[in-house]
Amino acid sequence: MTIVRPSLRLAAPLVRAIGNAIAPRAEDAGRLCIVNYHRILALPDPLLDDPTVDDFRWQMDVLAECFNVLPLGEAVERLAHGAMPPRAVAITFDDGYRSLHDLALPILRERGLAATVFVTSGHMADASSMWNDVILEAVRRLPGPAVDLRDIGFDTYPLATPAERSASVNLLTERCKYLVPQQRALMLARLQELAGADLSQELMLTDAMIGNLLANGVDIGGHTVTHPILARIDDASAQREIEDNKRDLERITGRPVQLFAYPNGKYGADFDDRHMAMVRAAGYRAAFSTAAGVATRRHDPFQLPRSRPWDSNPLMFAARLLQWFHGERHVVV
Ligand SMILES: [Zn+2]
Repeated sequence: MTIVRPSLRLAAPLVRAIGNAIAPRAEDAGRLCIVNYHRILALPDPLLDDPTVDDFRWQMDVLAECFNVLPLGEAVERLAHGAMPPRAVAITFDDGYRSLHDLALPILRERGLAATVFVTSGHMADASSMWNDVILEAVRRLPGPAVDLRDIGFDTYPLATPAERSASVNLLTERCKYLVPQQRALMLARLQELAGADLSQELMLTDAMIGNLLANGVDIGGHTVTHPILARIDDASAQREIEDNKRDLERITGRPVQLFAYPNGKYGADFDDRHMAMVRAAGYRAAFSTAAGVATRRHDPFQLPRSRPWDSNPLMFAARLLQWFHGERHVVV
């Protein structure tokens, strides 16, 4: 951080000036860049590509110094009614990882930055891990050189090197993502058995942590109960996932939960018009996909894009945000 800060300090006025120059005219009602995180890592992890706490710190410096960070609910309101400042950014986290509370919150507080976390509520009561983390921890612990899952309809996955383990985590996660819950449970049970350990790690937020987040400027949004791909389950189950999650979170927070993020978030593959209608009928004000690019007034408020501006240094990070503001079109990251 001490290495990158001077360059950011010198460049911040330029980034702000460019951002102002490319801001739309008032009649265009503004643009909003919604950045999307999942977890923050205490240290680099060869099996995960999430930012470390050091990376997150400089990324928040860029946002605080060069952009106008708004609470997401307020930003969505402004998007609908105009009055959006130039360079408007909102910060979001998906799934409800404890690292938001333990590692990111102090950094957000130091800089006075608001954020929203979309919480998968089914893992809170029993402190269980999401299925992707069961895969991750199994692959981390399984003996090499490979794990053979052909007897349950999968493949053989190499584990001889860290790179192979990382590739196998990705392959298994992608494969598992679109399985029906029963098939996924079978796969997870087998991995747990082969790894010979309880792979839950108490990774997710508790009720008390959610209370502390709310008290410190982090809003809570919905993200279903068990994080299914909504397009892969029947409509009654999808509706239950959406409605039960909202009810659970409102019981925990004691306030209306008004914003929702679709699990995995790709329109067509992961959710469609049926789920947008369900989210609206459940009483949500807006919902978010994982399409890249900035949100504008022309977007459907139940399909607002969010972006992952992962870059290795502050200037590239700022430049990518400016590119999105300028392009106002979907950009492949
Ligand atoms: Zn998610």
